[in-house]
Amino acid sequence: MRNTTHYFLLALMSSIIFGCSDHETEGDAYKPNYLPSIDATSLPKENRPMTMFEDDESPSKMYDKTDRWFRVNQPLQVIQKGKDSVQVSLYSPVGLTDVKIYAKLPNYEKRFLLYSFTKIPAFHRSFHKIPLTAGKNDYLLETGNTVTIDKIDGFSSGAIEFSVESEDPLFQKFKKIKSSHLVQFSDSYHTNELGKFLPMNPVLAKEAITMIINYSYALSHPLYYSTFTNFDKYKQEQAATAGTTTINGAINWHGNAEDKDGVYDYLTKDEIEKIYWNYLDSRTVYMAMVGGDSAWGGGPLASQWESSYVTGHWLGEMSVWSHEYSHHIGFSHSSNLANSGEGGGQQEMLTQFYKYLIYLNDLPFTDPEVLKGWTKTAYLTGTYKKPVFTISPKNTFLLKYKGEGKWN
Ligand SMILES: [Zn+2]
Repeated sequence: MRNTTHYFLLALMSSIIFGCSDHETEGDAYKPNYLPSIDATSLPKENRPMTMFEDDESPSKMYDKTDRWFRVNQPLQVIQKGKDSVQVSLYSPVGLTDVKIYAKLPNYEKRFLLYSFTKIPAFHRSFHKIPLTAGKNDYLLETGNTVTIDKIDGFSSGAIEFSVESEDPLFQKFKKIKSSHLVQFSDSYHTNELGKFLPMNPVLAKEAITMIINYSYALSHPLYYSTFTNFDKYKQEQAATAGTTTINGAINWHGNAEDKDGVYDYLTKDEIEKIYWNYLDSRTVYMAMVGGDSAWGGGPLASQWESSYVTGHWLGEMSVWSHEYSHHIGFSHSSNLANSGEGGGQQEMLTQFYKYLIYLNDLPFTDPEVLKGWTKTAYLTGTYKKPVFTISPKNTFLLKYKGEGKWN
C-alpha cells in the first residue's frame, strides 16, 4: 500500500554520512508533515526573485558567461549555491506550472521531493535555502512513501543532486530535447569587430534563447533524425515530386573535401550517424549578431542578423542559422551540411522541416506573442511587423507527411 512505509534517515554529525533506517508498519499512523509548495510569482524578498533579461536590463548581465548560461535540454536550471542554497533559473519565454524538484543524496538511492513549485514565471530566477539545512523534515518519495531526514548543516558541491519533473506540456517538450549544447552570449565578437558584429540586448537574447530551444527540439525530432540519416532518400523523393529521377547535385551528405568534376567525398552510414549526434552534443555555442554583409559561424560562434532573431525564426526562416551552426559543428562550404548549393543540403532540408513543425504546432514555442519582440522598437535597429507564419503547399514535408508525424 502507498503511504504506509515511513523511512527515517539519520544524519550522523554534520557530515554527509547517513544512517538510514527504513521501517514498514502495517497501518502506520504516521502523518507526514511536508513543506508547503511554492508560488514563484509571489516570493518574499529573502528569495531574491528576479526576472532575467528584462528589456531594460544592462546587456553586461547577459554577456556575463559565468552568470547566464544554460543547456538547451535543461531550460529549468537548478544550481547549488554555497553549502545550503540553490539558484533556480528558467530560461524560457513561457512559464511552467507544477514543477517538482527532486533531490538525491549519496548513500540513499531514492529521490525525494525537495521543492514543489505551483508556478515559475518566464525567465524567472530565485534563490532557495535547502530545507535539509534548516531542520528535520518529512519528504515525499517518488514512490509515494515518506522519508524523514534530520538536519544536515550543509553540502559540499555535488553532494546533493537535483532533478526536475513536471507534467506541464511545455516541460514535456523540453524533456524530448536530446541536445545538451551549452548556450552563452559573448561580447568579444562585437568588441573586437564592431560592425561585422553588433551588440545584442536582452530583447534579442530572449528571442535567441527561444529560437535555440526550438531549433534543438527540431534537431532532436524523430522525423528529422530519419530524414537526416536517409538524406539520399529525401533527395530521391524531392526529385520525384518535381517529376524527374535526375538528382541535382550530390545524392547524399558529403564532407569537407573539395569536390572535383562532380565527384563528392560521400560520408558512410556510420559517419552520418556520428555527425547527427555531433549536432546534439554538449559543446558550447556563443549566439551572436552580425551587422555586415555576411553571417559567421565556426568554433563556438554561430551568428545571424537582427531580423532573423526578431521575426525570421517565427516564420521558420532558419536557413542562415542552420548554415552558421553547421560551421560551428565543423563543416565548410564544400560540404552540403553547410552549403545550400547544388540542389540544396541541410540548410534547405532543415528550413522545410522547421516550417512543417511550426505548421504542426510541434515546437516548444510557435506564438510570437510570447515575446512581442517586433514591438520593442527602442531596442531594435530595424523596423518589423508581427511575423505571420504560412506554409507553402510545396513544402516537402507537408507533401510527404500531409499533417502526420507530430512527435507524441
Ligand atoms: Zn558560410
